[in-house]
Amino acid sequence: MSANTIIKPDKDTKSETKPGNYFVSNYPPFSFWRENEVPMVESMLNSPTAGSAPLGIYYHVPFCRKRCHFCYFRVYTDKNSQDVRRYIDASLHELEAYANSPYIAGRKPKYVYFGGGTPSYLSAQQLTELTDRMKALIPWDEAEEVTFECEPGTLSEKKLEVIKNFGVTRLSLGIENFNDHILETNGRAHRSGEVYRAYEHARNLGFQNINIDLIAGMLEETDENWEKCIERVLELSPDCITIYQMEVPFNTTIFKTMKEQGKLTAPVADWPTKRKWVTQAYEALEKAGYTVTSAYTAVKDPENTKFIYRDRLWAGADMVALGVASFGHLGGIHYQNQTHFDQYCQTQEEKKSAVRRALLTTEDERFVREFILQWKLGRVRPAYFSEKFCVDVTERFSEILTDWKDAGDLYEESGDLLLKRDALLRIDSMLHRFFLPEHQDAKYV
Ligand code: SF4
Repeated sequence: MSANTIIKPDKDTKSETKPGNYFVSNYPPFSFWRENEVPMVESMLNSPTAGSAPLGIYYHVPFCRKRCHFCYFRVYTDKNSQDVRRYIDASLHELEAYANSPYIAGRKPKYVYFGGGTPSYLSAQQLTELTDRMKALIPWDEAEEVTFECEPGTLSEKKLEVIKNFGVTRLSLGIENFNDHILETNGRAHRSGEVYRAYEHARNLGFQNINIDLIAGMLEETDENWEKCIERVLELSPDCITIYQMEVPFNTTIFKTMKEQGKLTAPVADWPTKRKWVTQAYEALEKAGYTVTSAYTAVKDPENTKFIYRDRLWAGADMVALGVASFGHLGGIHYQNQTHFDQYCQTQEEKKSAVRRALLTTEDERFVREFILQWKLGRVRPAYFSEKFCVDVTERFSEILTDWKDAGDLYEESGDLLLKRDALLRIDSMLHRFFLPEHQDAKYV
């Protein structure tokens, strides 16, 4: 997730796409995480009792074949096999330290997530070695879900077989668009032919859950092309479809070009158009039997197609972060690793902590965090928050909820609070109102 988010007021998503992030990925904002709180992570890991929250592992692969013009992640396109070897060794050293800590020792992950960058950039051999060595340190035999993000052009049948064999249950394909011109214009490395080949191999291998990622509003997207994208998705019929609305954060190539040209508005569709496209996609998917399960996802079979990583994380689970710039959460402490490749590897070579900044959250901040994140599911259960945090959310946030009801964004059903579709699709721009006063208008840096 981005570390460069600026939370903007609701009105900002009523018109053009301006530079900056709208997506709320965590709370409190990253600008409140501090280097001087890093020792808290060590203290937590050395606490005498093991943690009791469900445990997850996030493994970051920072390599990509090419940098997409809209990308704001820490990725490298110039690393050779020696660099990859160095990185794998460093990350395994990091995992070993976690596995031996009193807080983690003896616990087994309920979910594992390989994100990036491009996890499928690694070769079949590198992946086999990496995952064998990870499992030897912390076995995954109790994991309910293992997710693996892929760029279609990096997948061969053999590599997919390896990925299936080391236990991946949720294969996530970063397709983004089916049109070769749009893929090229946006700097993607893959083309549609690779998408179809990879998808067919993955289906033949019988992955339990295949997700397709799309982006509404890429450079040069049109009504006609978006309709075709929806048709292609329906033909492929994946288990899950994730649709993001295009943003133009400050550290993207698109923003740099805008700056050079002196433009204030991003050269992509405006927010109402992007929401119209997502609405169109969701309506077509619902017609085909899918269920919309969050602001970003629709699934074919909601009973059997879960997204455990998201649901556990948004309910306060522990997550060990491995790799450069990774984000983790342990025992109420947020943390992020070193954000540069050499620095990160060096910490492990010198047997030091890789953590760069951290934040020990208060009980109230943890409550607000879960409350904010769960809105993205479109349904919030007040009973969950009164049981877990002893907070009556309808009382505490009565003013905001009344405003939302008056605006036609919110309704109630069996004691739950539900968002109308239009509000769900702009939820990231509405959440800042729940932030504690000290976090309002915060910059994430
Ligand atoms: S594949 Fe993903 S992580 Fe890699 S450059 Fe493109 S957007 Fe960034």
